[in-house]
Amino acid sequence: MPRPSLAELKARHKEQQSKKQTNKTTRSESDVYPFWEMEADQEAVVRILPDLDEENRDVYQIDKLSHTLHINQKQRYIPCLKMYDEDCPICARSQKYYNSDDKVKGKYYWRSKKVLVRALILKDPLPVGEGGPRVGRVMTLSLMAELTNRIIADIAAFANDDVDPWDLKGGTNFVIRRGEKQTPTGKQATYAASGFERKASAIPADMLETVKLVDLRSLLPKNPGLDHVLGLLEAHDNHTDYTGGETQGASTTTNESAEGTQQPVVEPVSTETVAQPATVTATAATTAAKPAGEGGSILDKIKRNRAAQAKAGE
Ligand SMILES: [Zn+2]
Repeated sequence: MPRPSLAELKARHKEQQSKKQTNKTTRSESDVYPFWEMEADQEAVVRILPDLDEENRDVYQIDKLSHTLHINQKQRYIPCLKMYDEDCPICARSQKYYNSDDKVKGKYYWRSKKVLVRALILKDPLPVGEGGPRVGRVMTLSLMAELTNRIIADIAAFANDDVDPWDLKGGTNFVIRRGEKQTPTGKQATYAASGFERKASAIPADMLETVKLVDLRSLLPKNPGLDHVLGLLEAHDNHTDYTGGETQGASTTTNESAEGTQQPVVEPVSTETVAQPATVTATAATTAAKPAGEGGSILDKIKRNRAAQAKAGE
C-alpha cells in the first residue's frame, strides 16, 4: 500500500481528534447516577429494574469486584477475575495472607465489591448534569453495603404475593435518602433512611417507552485476562511499571479512597472498559407481565435465593 498522502494523514488526524472528543463526552455524561452528590436531607426516587437476563439469580443486581494495587506509585484498579468465573491470582494471594494471619496484607489484596443496579430515575434533586435532565432516564446505581442491605431488608418485608417492586405498573419506587451521621472523624453521609415507598405506583405513561432492560453483565468491565493481571501483579511486586495490555483499558488509576463511605467513585475509565450496556428492546413492562403464580414471582425467587445464601453462609 502506498504511503498515505498528507491530505489523507490530515483526514486521519481529524478523525482521531473527533473520536477522542466523543470518548470524552461518553465519560463525562456517565451512565452512573451520582446520588452521593446529594446534600444531607435530599432524596432521589427511582424504580429499580430487573436484569434482562432472567437467569440472574440476583434478579436486579450484579456484583462488580475489583482490586486496587499500587504500581509504580500509582493506584491501579484491576477487575477481579472472579467476576468472569475464573480463578483470580490476587484473591488467591489475599487468601494466602489471611491464612497465615497477616490481616493487613490480606485486606490489601482483597477484592472490593460494588453492587450495580439499573434504575429508572423518577425524581432527581441534583443540578442538571452535562448529559441533560436525568428524570426519565435509566441509569446505573453503583451501591455499597449500606444501600444494598437496605434494599434486601425491604424486599424481605414484601409479602410473597405482592407485585414485584420493579413492575412498571404495579411496582414500588425506591427512595434514596441522604442523611448525616457523626463519626469520630467527623460527619459522614448515611443512606440508612432509604427504602421502598409504602405504596405501589405506576410510572408515568410517557416513560414506559423509554425503559429498556439491559443484560447486567454488560455493565461489568471487560475481562482483562489472566496474563494481564499477572503482569500487573509482577510489576507491583517488583516496583516496576507495567504498560502491557493498556489498550484493553482494563486497568486505570483511581482514587477509591472513600471505600466504605457509600461514595462510589466513578472510575475514570476509558470507553473500552465500561461497555455501553447493550440495550435490547424488551421492556420491563413485558417482562413483568408474566403471571405471578407461575413458579413463583421474581420476588419469591429472590427471597428463596437470599434464604439459601444466608444458609450457605452460616
Ligand atoms: Zn480477585
